[in-house]
Amino acid sequence: MGNLIYLDNNATTKVDPQVLDAMLPYLQEEYANPSSVYDFAKRANHAVKEARGVMKDFFNAKDEKEIIFTSCGSESANTAIRGVLNMNKNKRHIITTKVEHPCVLNLYQTLEKEGYNVDYIGVNSNGELDLAQLEEAINDDTALVSIMYANNETGVIFPIEKISEIIKSKNKETKFFVDAVQVSGKIPIDVQALGVDLMGISGHKFHAPKGIGALYVNSKTLITPLIIGGHQERGKRAGTENVPYIVGIAKAAELAQDHLKYEATEVKRLRDKLEKNIVKNVFNARLNTGIVNRVPNTTNIGFEYIEGELILLHLSDLGICASSGSACTSGSLEPSHVLRAMNVPFTAIHGSIRFSLSKFTTEAEIDYVCEKLPGIIEKLTNLSPFQDELEALKKLRH
Ligand code: PLP
Repeated sequence: MGNLIYLDNNATTKVDPQVLDAMLPYLQEEYANPSSVYDFAKRANHAVKEARGVMKDFFNAKDEKEIIFTSCGSESANTAIRGVLNMNKNKRHIITTKVEHPCVLNLYQTLEKEGYNVDYIGVNSNGELDLAQLEEAINDDTALVSIMYANNETGVIFPIEKISEIIKSKNKETKFFVDAVQVSGKIPIDVQALGVDLMGISGHKFHAPKGIGALYVNSKTLITPLIIGGHQERGKRAGTENVPYIVGIAKAAELAQDHLKYEATEVKRLRDKLEKNIVKNVFNARLNTGIVNRVPNTTNIGFEYIEGELILLHLSDLGICASSGSACTSGSLEPSHVLRAMNVPFTAIHGSIRFSLSKFTTEAEIDYVCEKLPGIIEKLTNLSPFQDELEALKKLRH
């Protein structure tokens, strides 16, 4: 057993050695600016073109021109949202969900201050979206609907194709942006079948390095650039192309496509094993989502009447990395906005842990966590000030 058991792949992932190998020539000898005219720049230029083709296939876009390289998922989302709104200045209504990532939610709070009217759609106790509320909210003034494909904390997948149909049936002019950061590399993506207008992803969530993302914008959707400057990315995103990282995300996308079946079978099998084991062996554990449609690598489990940060510290002592919410909110004691939107009981919300696996997770690692975690929880449970409540819960669950 190595020292590190990394089960926090929704926060970030290990760079695949094959991705690094593909990138290295462009960090070393092939350092030309791809826009330069001399022969030396041709290989860099060609590499960017090839990578764009790979990303077109990854999204199943119609045209390579629909792909914009960005620096991260946050930039993809900000470009999509600001870009669409700037092109539709007469419309002031936006719809999103209560459980989006902070890179989207915080932007909407800013937009509200700028005079936009934003509706936040809720979820049920399993984390599934309220589609009736969404349908009711769409009106003639709705410029944009922005909904994540899968939630980063729970892994719950939203029915994007159905949502797209609802939007088009209510207002054909409304644009639909999907934050697909947590599905890339986990389930197939097909922007045409889904009927979305814009979709953002981030390389570091599927074994490319941090600092590279991509945005799909269909040819019928006009956006203004977020970063204004040179002509790169067809005027949609200025800045000299980050050739090695662009090559890296394309290699990661290729590898991810080849691994989708493995995600759906092996990664899911290990996730299910971990989840079932914990829920069976720990009386005060609850699966926060229930068994709903989720990405195959994620589980979110609440340990009632104990503190999640303490669980994380004990796991960390054993070299096990997990998360008590999204990476951006851990470190603050604010309970997760996602679990709050799901009405997870306050007795479990503070003790909720997200485990997120990857193709590098092994059975031995999962077995080790299954072996060690019940003891940690038992120890912390015995220290909890809520002994009467725990006793009642124990009777109820047995
Ligand atoms: N959207 C979702 C659903 C995420 O989980 C994240 C990162 O955790 C982001 C967006 C932001 O991506 P990045 O860190 O690449 O900006």
